[in-house]
Amino acid sequence: GAESGRPHVALLPSPGMGHIIPLLEMAKRLVLHHGFHVSFITITTEASAAQTQLLRSPNLPSGLHVVELPPADMSTILHDDMTIVQRLCLIVQESLPYIRSVLRENPPQALIVDIFCTDAFQIAKDLSIPAYSFFTAPTALLALSLYLPTMDREIEGEYVDLPKPVQVPGCNAIRTEDLLDQVRNRKIEEYKWYLLSVSRLPMAVGIFVNTWEDLEPVWLRGLRENSFFQQIPIPPVLPIGPLIKEDEPLTDFDNDCIEWLDKQPPDSVLFITLGSGGTLTSTQLTELAWGLELSQQRFILVVRTPSDASASGAFFNVGNNVMKAEAYLPQGFMERTQEVGLVIPSWAPQVTVLRHPSTGGFLSHCGWNSTLESISHGVPMIAWPLYAEQRMNATMLTEEVGVAVRPVVGEGKNVVGREEIERVVRLVMEGEEGKEMRRRVRELQSSALATLKPGGPSFEALSEVAGTWTTTAH
Ligand code: UDP
Repeated sequence: GAESGRPHVALLPSPGMGHIIPLLEMAKRLVLHHGFHVSFITITTEASAAQTQLLRSPNLPSGLHVVELPPADMSTILHDDMTIVQRLCLIVQESLPYIRSVLRENPPQALIVDIFCTDAFQIAKDLSIPAYSFFTAPTALLALSLYLPTMDREIEGEYVDLPKPVQVPGCNAIRTEDLLDQVRNRKIEEYKWYLLSVSRLPMAVGIFVNTWEDLEPVWLRGLRENSFFQQIPIPPVLPIGPLIKEDEPLTDFDNDCIEWLDKQPPDSVLFITLGSGGTLTSTQLTELAWGLELSQQRFILVVRTPSDASASGAFFNVGNNVMKAEAYLPQGFMERTQEVGLVIPSWAPQVTVLRHPSTGGFLSHCGWNSTLESISHGVPMIAWPLYAEQRMNATMLTEEVGVAVRPVVGEGKNVVGREEIERVVRLVMEGEEGKEMRRRVRELQSSALATLKPGGPSFEALSEVAGTWTTTAH
């Protein structure tokens, strides 16, 4: 079923920008560097405007074909109290018949599925299509996830109550307070869905990971060499990253933001945005705004309607901000900071901002894409984890990699106070520690560039596997 004689592969991302972005980058590389025709199968949800814009961008290379599945009827299946993973898995499950028919009509030489789409492995098996997984989170989480079925069998009670950190065989220990949301309560559906999704990973022919050797050496070595993983056995783990969004369509509003950045000195602006869905409580947003003001540093602050109920309050409705920023920022904040700051509602062109020479720091929720984007552009971080595996990422960035500082939460409180925010902002933007973090992150930036070039480990890892697909005509 190849178009114009090119070999054909299909990619199946989970809904959500954090998944679509890296899989789309992989798709582009397969088209541009390796001569493939790619079907990019997307599951339709109440997508954000940014997601629609990305998938309908006129700049996608020809040879990359976006296949939008018909929306499954979720009206009787989804409930307001469901968590993200549960929602995603249910949407994928309802979309399986469509996925099957797309694959049957035009069978690819290989199928690459995202973590919450591992249900599709069975379809691939039925249709004799070799199936791979693309893990869009760090190798650290992959290692924990591959270990999870064993933990589930052997450990009684909650993992968060364990007296010691979780020791993933051959890897670093993970503090129980850093464990991802999905495994913090074993009694809820979210855990069951996560466990089910990751327990299917060994069905893959190979697991691509959006990372590279120099960023996570310990974890990659552990997965490859430890006898525990050899015994499961797990398929080859293939680091092909950092695959990040290279360019993004800019609106007039985005262009204003870049023009503002053009007028600021090099490395002087702190960029603040919290992923595709992150939100703060109203108390925390107030403290953040005061901390920024006290620091007297330049900033771009992306604000969303605060949510006291959830740290991912905007996940399914980014861009649907009802209130104006002034309504939930401290009174007079906008006027007092107008010389040094820019407040943007909901969403900013993150990669374009991070690439800009005026940007000198990034206050981030440490989502994996944001992490890779920051490192790839040599920007040190303030780690502000909110949900999913972000606490693990924050610990890795501060303690293993040395490119981030993490603010301390006030004693007995749930809030980072304004003085602490002022401290970390100054530290990153003008302190000696900030300089050291910048040096380290620029080192990693060079290594990220090199690994993706022909001859580099990540480029060659993808190239080698892609080579096996071209020789196995379907
Ligand atoms: N993003 C953006 N502008 C924003 C916030 C996020 O362009 O204001 C993009 C960001 O560049 C990244 C993605 O959205 O590619 C967020 O992915 P990440 O894995 O960091 O977090 P998640 O959204 O999955 O929590």
